[in-house]
Amino acid sequence: MKALVAVKRVIDYNVKVRVKADHSAVDLTNTKMSINPFDEIAVEEAVRLKEAGVIDEIIVASIGPKESQEQIRSALALGADRGILVQTEDKAYPLQVAKILKSIAETEGTEIILLGKQAIDDDNNQTGQMLAALMGAPQGTFASKVVVEGNEVKVTREVDGGLQTVALDLPAIITTDLRLNEPRYAKLPNIMKAKKKPLDEKTPADFGVDMTSKQQIIQVEPPADRKAGIKVGSVDELVDKLKNEAKVI
Ligand code: AMP
Repeated sequence: MKALVAVKRVIDYNVKVRVKADHSAVDLTNTKMSINPFDEIAVEEAVRLKEAGVIDEIIVASIGPKESQEQIRSALALGADRGILVQTEDKAYPLQVAKILKSIAETEGTEIILLGKQAIDDDNNQTGQMLAALMGAPQGTFASKVVVEGNEVKVTREVDGGLQTVALDLPAIITTDLRLNEPRYAKLPNIMKAKKKPLDEKTPADFGVDMTSKQQIIQVEPPADRKAGIKVGSVDELVDKLKNEAKVI
């Protein structure tokens, strides 16, 4: 059985985001970029399924600028077998990404398709769901446990106030939540080996996908600066301020 894992190149989650002076987008100049954290969890889950003998081959795909091959190589160092970079300088919106992933999944015959629940740059939480709709395949979103049994996969989902387990016929789409696993660190020998693993370069046109979007980002604002805190002299003063200034008690 083959697995497809979608990995997006995003600004590293430790980096303080700067907005461009014209407020058109986030400024990515000289910024550390990484695999989207939920996609790292997706890669880890695929590697664990391979180690358990459930999956034979893991393909990772990324749609984005040429530099996205760094994130594909990181996934290969974690244990994926080969990569596909779909290179584009256009902004990759969820629908276009889902169309490309559908084409890859169908051509490669991948039965387990893992994505992050959301990309931490645009926070769309849409691509997995769109992919499932386009493929007419079942989906298990916000997965915290994945068990493949014969021709189906049982996915435990994190829902409000609890857990829900669903059984999906394969091929199935799974989107990962934070508690699914803790990704391993790549070991140096594996980073070296990853440099030799196959990485195909494609373009959206190879999949017949037009990257023009009907959606456009018109403005990006940074979060408001937090006000400085104050020190109070006593518990009574604190209670008074909470009651009469903040009006929260
Ligand atoms: P989103 O719907 O944008 O929040 O993204 C959800 C998931 O879709 C991500 O965690 C990735 O697994 C996948 N994804 C989104 N955009 C891309 C991309 N450009 N390349 C590869 N995977 C992507």
